[in-house]
Amino acid sequence: TASPAPTGRTSNESEFARARKVISGGVNSPVRAFGSVGGAPRFLVSASGPYVTDVEGREYVDLVASWGPAILGHAHPEVVTAVQDAAALGLSFGATTPAETELAELVVRRLGGPRASGGLIDELRLVSTGTEATMTAIRLARGFTGRPLLVKFAGHYHGHSDGLLAAAGSGVATFGLPASAGVPEPIAEQTLVLPYNDPEAVRAAFAAHPGRIAAVIVEAAAANMGVVAPDPGYNAALASIAHEHGALLILDEVLTGFRVAPDGYWGLQKTSSAEPAYDVDLVTFGKVIGGGMPVAAVGGRSDVLEHLAPNGPVYQAGTLSGNPLAVAAGLATLRLADQETYARLDRMSGTLRAAVSEALTAAGVAHTVQSAGNLFSVLFAPEPARDYEAVQAQETFRFPPFFHAMLDRGVALPPSVYEAWFVTAAHDDRAVTRILDALPHAARAAAEA
Ligand code: PMP
Repeated sequence: TASPAPTGRTSNESEFARARKVISGGVNSPVRAFGSVGGAPRFLVSASGPYVTDVEGREYVDLVASWGPAILGHAHPEVVTAVQDAAALGLSFGATTPAETELAELVVRRLGGPRASGGLIDELRLVSTGTEATMTAIRLARGFTGRPLLVKFAGHYHGHSDGLLAAAGSGVATFGLPASAGVPEPIAEQTLVLPYNDPEAVRAAFAAHPGRIAAVIVEAAAANMGVVAPDPGYNAALASIAHEHGALLILDEVLTGFRVAPDGYWGLQKTSSAEPAYDVDLVTFGKVIGGGMPVAAVGGRSDVLEHLAPNGPVYQAGTLSGNPLAVAAGLATLRLADQETYARLDRMSGTLRAAVSEALTAAGVAHTVQSAGNLFSVLFAPEPARDYEAVQAQETFRFPPFFHAMLDRGVALPPSVYEAWFVTAAHDDRAVTRILDALPHAARAAAEA
């Protein structure tokens, strides 16, 4: 396979200096900057299986997985071939294709659908990014209910549309921003930000704004403030409170969907005895559904989805929506991600969670490994965190030295304490050994911080 040869004449530092002259901040997405850990971000030239390679020719075991999509590992040969085959037939038509229907059918079926037969969604609309998916879901909820307000939870990230940046997770948390500048107050005021895992706060919001809340949007399991799983019964409580008041529940599975189980976090909960069944109106997907290419989706109840143009009055569109290369990557990825893939991800996650905890305990670092399915992150606090306030109270200063000790030993973690770690089915013994060898050094660096 093609591996762009590192020239040996460049370095991550010089690439960063060069990028900063022509790209705002030197990065095209803020989470890629080493903003909270320091140093120059690694400029990558190739990726294969569990590894990524930078411009200096250094190879890292990757626990970023493109922030989720790469569940099969990078550049899976069958996914690459599917994209190459699609490319040979044309890059973009701006017209309907059978492959889009195939992907939609596969997704509806995989989520047990349609809803009348116990599934999660009846139909969907393909878009290109998670941001578009949640933005569309919210517009749809408002158009359907005729109500203006939205409930979101502190520390949850749903992309970068105006109304969703208040007290957001991911880069907004990493850079310590309360919200984003540039969002006009009349728009920000339409979002009610509540503490997570606190159903009473949601009941109080509905009581305070009768008949005005269109929807509650929640990450299926929070994973953009580090991982914070919903308490047992919490998602179900949100559904019943919202429905009691004529509002919709939007389940954001952009990060969890097709990653924690074949049918997402909803699927995990469905098979859990601790979890009452619950009814979701709209669901958003991204990341794995595109297999590393730009595909995302909003799906749900057909009576709600029918409000989208051309059938209904809620507008949404996209020149590149359902792009043939992207759809080919998504289809190939979902077809390859079978039960064995998820079993591998679970085993890998379990191994790493135990090893991280063992190393930090040996180094005397107070910590909790927080998890939701195979997603996990390290919280530098002795007690588990259930909400954003608790997450922010951890010893965040221990993360940068931990991160750099791992990186120095050839393991690339997400460069923020507020991000989940992503395993892939391609992480093999050699990759795991490197992680296990690096952990005690990183734990000692965290202890000395
Ligand atoms: N929702 C969730 C839960 C996410 O994790 C993300 C991205 N990390 C988004 C929405 C936004 O997706 P995108 O970056 O593709 O716009």
